[in-house]
This record gives sequence, structure tokens and C-alpha cells, in this order.
Amino acid sequence: MSRITKVVARQVFDSRGNPTIEAEIFSKNTSAKAICPSGSSTGSYEAYEKRDKSNKRYLGKSVFKCVQIINKVIAKKIRNINVHNQEKIDHILIKLDGTKQKSKLGANSILVVSMAVKKLSSKIKKIPLYKNFLIKKNFRLPFPLMNIINGGAHANNGLRIQEFMIRPDSAKSFSEAIRMCFIVINNLKKTLKKDGHSTSVGDEGGFAPMINDNEKALKLIVKAINQSGFKNGKDITICLDVAANELYKKNKYSIHSTKYINSDLTIKKYIKLIRKFKISSIEDPFAENDWNSWNKFMKTNFSNIQIVGDDLYVTNLERLKIGFLNNSSNSILIKLNQIGTVTETLEVIKFSHLIGFKTIISHRSGESEDTFIADLAVGTNSDQIKTGSLARSERVSKYNQLLRIEEDLGTNAKMNKMN
Ligand code: PEP
Ligand code: MG
Repeated sequence: MSRITKVVARQVFDSRGNPTIEAEIFSKNTSAKAICPSGSSTGSYEAYEKRDKSNKRYLGKSVFKCVQIINKVIAKKIRNINVHNQEKIDHILIKLDGTKQKSKLGANSILVVSMAVKKLSSKIKKIPLYKNFLIKKNFRLPFPLMNIINGGAHANNGLRIQEFMIRPDSAKSFSEAIRMCFIVINNLKKTLKKDGHSTSVGDEGGFAPMINDNEKALKLIVKAINQSGFKNGKDITICLDVAANELYKKNKYSIHSTKYINSDLTIKKYIKLIRKFKISSIEDPFAENDWNSWNKFMKTNFSNIQIVGDDLYVTNLERLKIGFLNNSSNSILIKLNQIGTVTETLEVIKFSHLIGFKTIISHRSGESEDTFIADLAVGTNSDQIKTGSLARSERVSKYNQLLRIEEDLGTNAKMNKMN
């Protein structure tokens, strides 16, 4: 009943229209599927995403080799194993690959299998997916880090910073959190229209107006928060993902304008921005190898804002430990495909909570209808979730799943503590 009987993979497409893998795992009576996400502003220490680079039929982006690997190699190794034994299965996959960045089989081949195994296990146990992770009772819903303006590698508008987000800190429930974001998004849309800007959206569903000045974008957001009757810095706070890897050259950064300046000056400008716009969270303010600047920034963090490592840690326990010892940040972004298995992801979340780091479960800019990360956020009591705007079904599907979980928990549905 709980043994894996069959593993089938196929090529499907992600939200950017790029090929990706879907894996389906079967037991005697049932099956479960998972789809792999894909990033565009990736860290160089991430697990390897395998594609058919020399096959030009899909411009080198197809994943037929991965499909073959799953159907022919992985399937044989995990057939007949008990599907509830996630760690055993994941370790078989890690060993079968044998490389540091999962470059032999591809982290994408490994991850979809790992995710589908977790889903099948909860299906057989007849429990919702969120109840099949670390937390067994007192579940907490995450605060959404709702993307409202896209820039950087996720839009072609010239905005330096990649993601401008809002967090509804005063929300008492998840549905109220979403309602608050909905109101602000609609007010922002009105202002953009009135000012003659485009209201089309970027890869993560946030607006992508042709504004190439960070401060201008922030002013528009503050205006929308005020128009919505909320107080910026209290009811709603502004969060950023700088994705500084993309804005780094020879020890200098071009975050605050197109001009490259050193990290001390960059920090000074950050501090000004934080004060002026009451920013509560900054992700990847510096590049992945610039440990020194991360540490300097933490030392100036007197208001104790959330400083989040994404490309810095790449959901990798070894890098997280280095960052912890170096006092590089106080929070971590969690992306399953940066490391490649559910088991390793859970280890990183457990360790993060042990050292007092906030965890933010995250989508990728290339997503799908798969809502795994919504359940993962609740099932690990993660503080926040970053899954785009209230636009594009691949983003909204995660919010909808969290609303279902909130309903399922009923009176036990509590929000995570924000401060
Ligand atoms: C991010 O940088 O946090 C992000 C979600 O983007 P991508 O998936 O392109 O790395
Ligand atoms: Mg990021």
C-alpha cells in the first residue's frame, strides 16, 4: 500500500513558458505529482539545474534528459521503497548523484521526485500536506511578503531593485493579510494609471511600470499605503529584495543608481532609505561572496530590521553556518530547488529556527500551478512566505492554498508573530 510502484516524469512548462519537469509517483492505489520551479536571478552556489543545452528544438531549454534520468535511473532505485521514508529516499537520490551541486542528475530531476514523494505520503496517510512536515500541532500561518513592483531581472523597466514588497504586519489573520494587500495593490494601480504608467505586470505579478528610480517606486508604494487608510511602518511595512549579485562589479555596487559605488557608501544609502521609507526587511543587500559587507551592514542594524540571505545561503546548511558565525544576517530565504531535496530543506529550516533566524519560504520567478510551498510554510511554522503578487495564477494559487489551510485549521488558525 505504501510502497512506490512506479515513477513517471514528463516535460511540462513553467510560468515563463520555459520547459520544466513534472514527476508523478505511484503507489498501489494512488499517485501524486510535483512540478519543478526555476529562478532567473540565481546564486552561483545553488544546486544545478539541468537542461538539454545542445538540443536546439527548445532553444537549449528542454529537460528531456532529466525526464529520462527519472524514468530510467531514479525510478529503478526508489521502486518498492516505503513512500513515508522521505529521508531514506532523498539520501538515495543524493548518493546516486554524488556531486556537490547535484550536477550529475540535475537538482531539478531530484527535487520533483522528492516533492512528489512527500505529497504521495500525505495522500496515503489521508492528511493534508501541511501536516506532513515538521509541525504536528499549533500551526501558524506565514505573513505574506507581497510583491507589488517588479524590477531587476524580473522586469525590463530599468528599476535597480528587483522586488518591492509589502508586509501587512498588523493583520490578525491570513485572510485579513491578503485583504490588506489587495486594497494597497488596487490603490497603487489607480495611481499608476492616473500618472500615465503601465499597469502590466512582471514575472512575479507585481506591476512593472517604466520607472527607473528606486525612490520613485517607494514613494508610489507609500502613497498607496496611505490612500488605503493604513499606516506605513506600522500596519504595513515595506520589504525589498535587492538581488545585489546582479548589481555588483569589482567590489562596487550600482544599487541606488547606475553609478557603481563602494559598499560603505552603499550602506549609508541603505540606512537613509530604511529611515525615509520605514523599510522592515532587505533581502540580498550584498553579493554572495561579499561576507564582509553583510557583516558591516548587520553592525549598523540598530533598528533590527530583517536582513535576509537568499543567494548568500542558497538554502545550504554549510553556507548558513558560515553566515551565522560571521553575523551576516538574521533571516534566510528558503527555496527548495536551491538545494534539491525536501529533507535537506527541512534541515536548513530546523537549524535556522534553532539559531533564531526567521525563515521565509519562497517561490521562484519561474513557477507553476504547484502549491507545495504554501503547505511547507505552514508545516514548518515559517515566519513569512514570498510568493508574488495577487496576479498570475501561479502566484495566486499559493495564496489560495493558504486560505484553504486557514479554513481547515478553523479557530486554531493563528498568524505567526511578526515582531
Ligand atoms: C529571488 O531572488 O528571491 C527570486 C524569487 O527570484 P529568482 O527565482 O529569479 O531567483
Ligand atoms: Mg532573492
